[in-house]
Amino acid sequence: MEKIKMTTPLVEMDGDEMTRILWQYIKDELLLPYIDLNTEYYDLGLEKRNETDDQVTVDSALATKKYGVAVKCATITPNAARVKEYNLKEMWKSPNGTIRAILDGTVFRAPIVVKGIEPCVKNWKKPITIARHAYGDVYKGSEMKIPGPGKVELVYTDENGNETRELVHDFTGAGIVQGMHNINKSIESFARSCFNYALDTKQDLWFATKDTISKKYDHTFKDIFQEIYDNEYAEKFEAAGIEYFYTLIDDAVARVMKSEGGYIWACKNYDGDVMSDMISSAFGSLAMMTSVLVSPDGYYEYEAAHGTVQRHYYKHLAGEETSTNSVATIFAWTGALRKRGELDGNKELMEFADKLEKATLDTIESGKMTKDLALITTLQDVTVLNSLDFIRAIRQTLETM
Ligand code: NAP
Ligand code: MG
Repeated sequence: MEKIKMTTPLVEMDGDEMTRILWQYIKDELLLPYIDLNTEYYDLGLEKRNETDDQVTVDSALATKKYGVAVKCATITPNAARVKEYNLKEMWKSPNGTIRAILDGTVFRAPIVVKGIEPCVKNWKKPITIARHAYGDVYKGSEMKIPGPGKVELVYTDENGNETRELVHDFTGAGIVQGMHNINKSIESFARSCFNYALDTKQDLWFATKDTISKKYDHTFKDIFQEIYDNEYAEKFEAAGIEYFYTLIDDAVARVMKSEGGYIWACKNYDGDVMSDMISSAFGSLAMMTSVLVSPDGYYEYEAAHGTVQRHYYKHLAGEETSTNSVATIFAWTGALRKRGELDGNKELMEFADKLEKATLDTIESGKMTKDLALITTLQDVTVLNSLDFIRAIRQTLETM
């Protein structure tokens, strides 16, 4: 069989730990045998980021702007322990944060639904898609430790040098402070991406913030959404028979738990980070969730919603067998390949992506799966496979298609 050709490169962002191992398995077993893989490779592994003073992360984001589509492996966001473990020059920022700051946009995360893995919230009948704003707030915050008594203020200096001040706190002892921001333009594109995605997928859109407490910051999110909805989308939503619904974040959480699913839940950056892990775990596994960053300029970055699965990696390093679920990482590749195919008019590539996804789900439905799924499946007589054998089982299914 001749391999599928690619006309435009895909931006490939390699990552860390167990997901880096899976990355290579997926390429070797599921991609390279079938595709003349054309990627521009960026190594976002922590060692390379440290070596390049994180320039490689910036370069990979700029390459995404050039080519339009990227696929990213999970990466370590350094904390104090990692600085020691990897002997880092600095506690580098989250690569996802850096990439999102450059591309802007919204991250859509949806559970990968498969027969035999039932949501643990029993009334959830349909997937819940989380739309996470991918710019600003705490991810672009600046912070200070306040050593002792003193006054902290917010100061805005306009172009003419006029200052506006707002007291944050008059400290009488040590403390902490954080400054964060967002940009109306980014919130507007967040709103439009959500409204468009709702229309594309014919699902209701929910949005929630804490505007009762945050009367300027969160309230601006609420107002921008409402204004764009009223001016640009209300009629389209009505015609499509779908709804836009705003509520407080705590009310939203309560309603989500009681709902049937089948809608998009738009979240501010931090809420989306937290809630997507809750949703994915409740739908089965962190490893059964797709994630794509859609920028307002039409750039796409596909990734898995989970992290580098550190605990499994240490087992792997110790020579022990691991059973790490590669589904979300496979779907990151298929999402990116399909989008590449769509943009290039490459039908073969799009069909391959569909087939690989089907082969992955069929393999699970046939009772072959990793341990995380075996623990929760309603299927009988399942075979628990190790990380590599699961990927090989998918290849076998793919071969029969
Ligand atoms: P994690 O890698 O998502 O793993 C947390 C736990 O969830 C694992 O220990 C495992 O549970 C389970 N799990 C997650 N993915 C799995 C998979 N594919 N197959 C089977 N089980 C899976 O989160 P973490 O351990 O908190 O973070 C590790 C590193 O990832 C951190 O350095 C963090 O900065 C980074 N991170 C990166 C991203 C990203 O790049 N997008 C996102 C989040 C975190 P058991 O141990 O019980 O098997
Ligand atoms: Mg997270």
